[in-house]
Amino acid sequence: MRILFFDTKTYDKESFEKQTGNYPAIEIDYLKTDLTPKTATLAKGYDAVCAFVSSDVGSDTMDALHEAGVKLVLMRCAGFNNVDLEKAAAYGIKVMRVPGYSPEAVAEHAMALALTANRRIHKAYVKVRENDFSLGGLMGMNFYQKTAGIVGTGKIGAAMAKICRGFGMKVIAYDVYQNPELADFVEYVTLDELLASSDLISLHCPLMDNTYHLINRETIAKMKDGVILVNTSRGGLVKTDDLIEGIRARKFFGVGLDVYEEETKNVFEDRSDEILEHSTTARLLSFPNVMITSHQGFFTEEALAAICKTTLDNAVAFEKGERNGNEVEERQ
Ligand code: NAD
Repeated sequence: MRILFFDTKTYDKESFEKQTGNYPAIEIDYLKTDLTPKTATLAKGYDAVCAFVSSDVGSDTMDALHEAGVKLVLMRCAGFNNVDLEKAAAYGIKVMRVPGYSPEAVAEHAMALALTANRRIHKAYVKVRENDFSLGGLMGMNFYQKTAGIVGTGKIGAAMAKICRGFGMKVIAYDVYQNPELADFVEYVTLDELLASSDLISLHCPLMDNTYHLINRETIAKMKDGVILVNTSRGGLVKTDDLIEGIRARKFFGVGLDVYEEETKNVFEDRSDEILEHSTTARLLSFPNVMITSHQGFFTEEALAAICKTTLDNAVAFEKGERNGNEVEERQ
């Protein structure tokens, strides 16, 4: 099977090359360019393309992939909101993904953001490097015996709940379904109760129509003063303008964001030579109690290795005509 790999970063190639030896029937060519309707034509002669979260796997790309004779789209991520599944089905192009690779990777990053925002590690790092050993502006709070509110207790939210329990926190949660795995130590409450009682709120629900802008002026007003908010899920869960208003009103002790509304054009790119004009991201970055990372929650050795293995296993299952549960179909 020949796979054309789009949007290749050095770490992608390294991770995949560590494992391809175990898959002698698979041959991969790596392209730096991302998948678009134009670049899809490069896939002529390949059986499959491998794409990522920022790839355009929409309607026009599907037309071009069909024209090129591609039969399989391997998404090396969990999400598939950027894939035109209807067109794929119409052309008989199979789409496969990696549903869960390492929930702990994302949960540990969520706690890293919470701790950084709380203990002002980002400021302390810079101060000490400048020989400023004073403690002004670095006062934090104990997480021990505080309340953590987890919104969405699926795989990642459950891992975060366990981490918070390890810190000696009381853990409460809001979800449309309760996770029985957490019954021993998590109390499920309404969203309003969670907002009113939590010292740390961590978002782990998916972005859907009913969760879009879940955090907005009204829900922020219901939070405790001095709350820490962490979002490692999707930027659209938080209405950024309202968040900025809340930060300016001193509502938040700290904010940690791995995802944010404007991230798509920035994510995984080096824009250090550019000026972010009219950017709410730049506004967010101007606050001393806000810590932003660029969608790196998934980025651990273990998670990347799991992504590679599942992606290659998906290719093998397709080749053998087997279903392994990682097919993405329209009804999902
Ligand atoms: P999951 O499907 O295991 O869990 C999601 C949970 O959210 C489920 O328990 C579901 O019932 C709950 N939920 C659904 N609608 C809800 C609502 N309206 N209110 C509250 N809860 C609701 O997913 P997961 O693997 O834990 O991933 C969670 C999210 O993390 C994903 O949607 C993705 O956006 C994000 N993610 C981020 C990174 C990163 O690198 N930052 C990596 C992977 C996933």
